[in-house]
Amino acid sequence: MKAPPIRRSTSTALATARRAWRLLYSDSRRCIALADQALERSLAHGDQAAEGWARLVRGLHLIWYSTPLEAAGELAEADRCFDATQDRAGHLLAEVGIARCLWREGKYRESLARALPLRAEGLAVLKHDELGLLLNVIAGCYASLGQSEQAFAYMFQALNESRPARGNGFEVVLYCNLAHELIQLGDYHQALSYVEEGIARYARLDNPRLLSVLLINRVICLTNLERAADALGDVERLLALPTDASGRGSTNPNFETMAIAALRAGNTALGAELIERASQDRTGIKLPDERITLVVATAEVMAARDLLPQAAALLAQAQPAVLNTAAEGLSLRVRCLFHQAMADTHERLGHAAQSLASLRLWQALHVERAQLASRARYQAASLQTELRRLQQNLDEIEARRRSTERAKAELEAINQQLSQKIDEVEALQAELRQQATRDFLTGLFNRRHLNDVLPQMLALAQREQQPLAVAIIDLDHFKSVNDRHGHVAGDKLLAAFGALLIAHGRRSDIAFRFGGEEFCLLMPRTDAAAAQRKVEALLSAWRDEVFQFDTGTLRSNTFSAGVADSLAELAAMEQLLKIADDRLLEAKRGGRNQVLAADLRADTVEA
Ligand code: GH3
Ligand code: MG
Ligand code: MG
Repeated sequence: MKAPPIRRSTSTALATARRAWRLLYSDSRRCIALADQALERSLAHGDQAAEGWARLVRGLHLIWYSTPLEAAGELAEADRCFDATQDRAGHLLAEVGIARCLWREGKYRESLARALPLRAEGLAVLKHDELGLLLNVIAGCYASLGQSEQAFAYMFQALNESRPARGNGFEVVLYCNLAHELIQLGDYHQALSYVEEGIARYARLDNPRLLSVLLINRVICLTNLERAADALGDVERLLALPTDASGRGSTNPNFETMAIAALRAGNTALGAELIERASQDRTGIKLPDERITLVVATAEVMAARDLLPQAAALLAQAQPAVLNTAAEGLSLRVRCLFHQAMADTHERLGHAAQSLASLRLWQALHVERAQLASRARYQAASLQTELRRLQQNLDEIEARRRSTERAKAELEAINQQLSQKIDEVEALQAELRQQATRDFLTGLFNRRHLNDVLPQMLALAQREQQPLAVAIIDLDHFKSVNDRHGHVAGDKLLAAFGALLIAHGRRSDIAFRFGGEEFCLLMPRTDAAAAQRKVEALLSAWRDEVFQFDTGTLRSNTFSAGVADSLAELAAMEQLLKIADDRLLEAKRGGRNQVLAADLRADTVEA
């Protein structure tokens, strides 16, 4: 009977670990932070399914940012969890990781022996980027064992299976691997173009280790294209990245490769310094390529200092290791580098026979390289085509995203303009409303507004059975002010009178300019007698105001006013205004400079 399928639990810790997994290439810092978080949470909850994935991601991250040994330990722990939860996919990936650790230690054959058997079940159980990881590790083994044909074929399949989604960064890894493989085959031009593509695409990622591998590959390309001086910028950039978990990882110093570039660029001092650092570096395992490169770089410094016999001796010491074809891991490129250095040194020493022997070895390797290249050509071409297609897809997605963003930004700009317009219109309307109710010169309300509010105020006063007083005020002999001091002075006087009205009124009083030099004051809850006293106080204040004009001083200004209240008159609006206006005329006739609150004639009759 078949066992029921194990369902992957969907805890928060597991979701966090899966998120970390997706950031493995694109954002190494966030990846490890999330994996740590997932691990902590899974341990707190005894969630083994999540613990397995958290440890798996941590292990894969540590391969690059710490030592293969530490990474392998973490991956073994992950595997233990996957066994307990019967997570086959997890188990396969932990095994893939462990194989990768062996590869990092230079044990290429062992690594391949461990990874290859995973392939069959992997094809059935793993999906997309998981399967991509497995296939890519196998590709790496073949590459390091000098089997380019197989390497390209697996890279191609890895690319096809993983269908890198936008932004997961796997395509940058592939650009890097493809370039590395082309370097092995001696196609530095093509390799350079892929490295540059990878570096350009790296801009969206945050994974210093990956960047450092891209840069070191560019350094190799430029050095071999006799453009070592152009590589010095990359050397500087690489040296600026710390060799620890926050930078390019503790096992990736590559000082010897940078030293060769510096020496070829003529900077012997920098070359010597880098060799010194490479020799002192005890952090990582020295791979065969790195060991021989260091020997060559050291010999080149010696040669630059005219210590040719010492250089030849050093190279001779390393020669057996280079000639040992059974030893794994020494790339064709570095073997060529070695024989070339050997030939050069002997040539300078005048040892024609030894120089020729080295050149023959060098030539034989080149033939081997060319054959390898021609065998791998078909696979390399299909990988390149596929990568181009993927790149196009990714670029289209990116372009769509950008154009959507642009459209959104435009819409936002239009919205903003629109709301700005609305604000303007509203401000304009408010101003218009203001102009419709206010008198521009004095800032008082105008006659139209009086017509609006007086009926309501009258109604209110009647309801409350309270008097509402109305005063109509007309400045005396105002025409002569204009005549003597000019219209501008007249305006100033009108504005000053408006200000006086506002200053003297209670909050509930409302002042209006009727037009010309005529004003009206509404005083709620005030009877005619009280209103008269108030307006008389106003008259006395007005008389005290002194105005200084170019044309002379103006003092003792007066006005005449008529006052009426709604309770005493029991009249409608028009009538009430007319009564006040009649009293104003009476005041004028009676000699001006006075406030009348009752009918003079009536008074006379009463008297
Ligand atoms: P009275 O004492 O009889 O009221 O004499 P008066 O000169 O004040 O009266 P009249 O109605 O003859 O003249 C009013 C003057 O007010 C006429 C006009 O030139 C002036 N006037 C009206 N509106 C304005 C204004 O906005 N600015 C200025 N400077 N003068 C104005
Ligand atoms: Mg008048
Ligand atoms: Mg007047």
